Formats: sequence, C-alpha cells, structure tokens
Amino acid sequence: MTLAINGGTPLRLTDYPQWPHYGPEEEQALLRSLHQGQWWRMQGRENLDFERSFAHLHGGHSAFAVANGTVALEIALQAAGVMPGDEVIVPAFTFISTSMACQRIGATAIPVDVCADTLCIDPSAVEANISPRTRAIIPVHMSGHMSDMASLMRIADRYQLQLIQDAAHAHGAQGLGGANIGDYGTLACFSFQNFKLMTAGEGGLVLCPNEAMREKVFLYGNCGRPFGDRNYQHTVVGTNARLSEFNAAVLSVQLSRLQVQNEIRQRNAQLLMEALDNDALVIPQGRTADAHVHPYYMVLFILPEDDSLGHLDRNQVVEALIAEGIPAYRAYQAIYRIPSFWQAPAPERHDQAHYIAHCPVTERVARRGIWIHHRALLGNVQDTLDIALAIRKVVQHLASAR
Ligand SMILES: *Cc1c(COP(=O)(O)O)cnc(C)c1O
Repeated sequence: MTLAINGGTPLRLTDYPQWPHYGPEEEQALLRSLHQGQWWRMQGRENLDFERSFAHLHGGHSAFAVANGTVALEIALQAAGVMPGDEVIVPAFTFISTSMACQRIGATAIPVDVCADTLCIDPSAVEANISPRTRAIIPVHMSGHMSDMASLMRIADRYQLQLIQDAAHAHGAQGLGGANIGDYGTLACFSFQNFKLMTAGEGGLVLCPNEAMREKVFLYGNCGRPFGDRNYQHTVVGTNARLSEFNAAVLSVQLSRLQVQNEIRQRNAQLLMEALDNDALVIPQGRTADAHVHPYYMVLFILPEDDSLGHLDRNQVVEALIAEGIPAYRAYQAIYRIPSFWQAPAPERHDQAHYIAHCPVTERVARRGIWIHHRALLGNVQDTLDIALAIRKVVQHLASAR
C-alpha cells in the first residue's frame, strides 16, 4: 500500500468529527445574549452564569472569565502577587504562553524538565531550581494529564511559593483520588481558544480559591477598577481582559457538553492506547494515578530515538499522517529554544546550553513528539482504531523505505 503522501489512497476516506462541535443550543445562546441588548459583562447575565457553572463543575470558589488563556495567566500572576524581578518556575515543555505571561508582567520564567512518563513538570526539578527570587510555580496539566499536585503543594508550602495551575488542556480533569482542579485551593487558568476542549473561538478563565482572590483577579482584569465603581477609581495597574457576553453564552453550552465528550475521549483513548501498545511502534504519554480523569486534549506520543526501524524523520511522519487523514501536529518546542524566550526578562544565571543539558525529556519530546487533536477521539470505535492503523502504516512504510 502506497502512502497517501506519495499518491496512494488515504487510510481515512472520511474526516473525523469537526471541531468546534456545535448545534442549535449555541445558536439559541447567541440569540439570547444578542437580545439582552447589552453585550458586555457589566450589564449582562451571561458571564456571571457561565462563571458560576464553570467554578461549580471544577470545585472552585468562583471564577472570572477573560478574553483568552494567555491574559488569564498574566492576571493570575499579578493577583498572586508576582512582581517584576521575581522568578516563576515553569515546565520547559509547554506552549509559550506559560512563560510569556511571566515575561509580560516583568517576571523571569525558569524552565525545568518534565517527567519522562507524564510529560508534566518534574517536582524534583522544581525543587532543584528554587532560588531566593522564586515566587511561584506554574504546572501545566499536559494534554489533560494532571500534574503531581501532591508533591508540588508540599514544595509550595515548604518554600512559601504561589502555585498557579495552567489548565489550558484540562477542562474537567481530575487528579489523584478524583480531586477537582479547584480542590487544590490555587488559582487555575483555562483557555477557550478554538482547538481547546470547549471553545468560543477565543476566551479564557481564572478559577479562584476564595472571594479575596476573585476580587484581585477581577481588579487586574478590569483596568484596576472595582466592580460598581462610578468614580474612576483605579486601584491597581490592570488591563482590560473582559470577555464579551456572546462568548460567555456559547461557553455555557460548551460546558454542558464537556463531561459527555470527556467520557467519549477517555473511552476511545483507552482503545487507542491498547492498539498502540500492541504495535509498540511509538511511545505514548504515560498515565499515572494523577490522571483520575484525563480529558485528552491531545493524544501525545514520541517516536523512538534509536529504534530498530531506523531513525524516522518526525516532521515527515506528521506530514504523512496528515495525508492519511489524521489531524497530527508537531509537539511544542522547548521554550528555551524559542528566541523571544531570551528577550528580557530572561534567565540570567544560565544560558540555553544549560537548559538543553538539564532538560533531556523536554529535548526528546520536542524533537520526537507528535500530537493528534482530540476531535479524532470523538468518533466511533473504527475511527479510533484507524489512528493506530495510520501510525502503523506510516511508521512501517517510512522505516522500510529508508
Ligand atoms: C492554549 C494554551 C494557553 C493560552 O491560551 P490562549 O487562549 O490561546 O491564549 C496557555 N497555556 C497552554 C498550555 C495552552 O495550550
């Protein structure tokens, strides 16, 4: 069988379910928010209602919906008291917003390696990188797999550090023993960008552990202005991060679909993992007891480095998978290899070579990692098994063609 990339028939003749998924409920919600006649949160119900349901589902005290996940991280850092000159420890393997948000508020992001199995931040690497300037840690629940929050909370407690969860992949995720994201009592930031597990095209949210924190988050996201103020009292230097009522209305419907979709993704992911295990051609992200509920924003896997099949070109495998009809992407780059990471404020104690040497897992997954978008997990059993078939077809073919 010729690969589709070489002119053969694609393995998939029909596409996977489209994303975003929507129906008449989103249409009705949009019309409902339209007919409110007031389209910003200050005079509408949509943001308030959405925040309440989202916080409830995630075990948080309250929430503030914002324009996107990047700005959610920026205002969460400010609300947590992170100041210019402070250091924030982040995983080296993440989307750039995790570290860029720190830079945007004048703090320095310190990248550390991730665990070889879960690809989430390695608590021992966090501890090894604490300095007198360290103020916060941002774990990223990679692809929806919860980080080792028990260890991270012990570290945060011992060194008096703020924890802020980057939950951009983790809507509805649960950690060890079924703990919800809000149960950890920290700020947590979500994204509702077009690809994410629920979306309004753009959007974000900061989950808050108590009323005092909610007020600070609100201030930083509302130009420093307290709710109800009529006297132009701007008590902190904030930004306008507010979300429109249209987005919030759509997100309420998307939230109502989340848990059913998470169950479908988990069930199909399990099928897929069994098929991938049988083939043993690639190394999937591992799953520990920290992922009690894993919503699978991505199916993330690594091509073996020194495989018996020969050294496959990762980018070529991605292109070949796309040609077979699989929504595949290259894994994130290590953040310390991205030029803007070194614009001020940047780490001063160490250079890029240091991080390359100290982040072997990040180096490997960034170079050899591939991810498949979660819409491929929203089909039926055959749709799911086709992912494994496509991987087998592409990997075996490219290896033997070498
Ligand atoms: C998507 C994402 C963000 C940023 O969210 P936006 O809404 O796109 O600004 C932050 N962190 C991670 C890990 C993400 O994947």
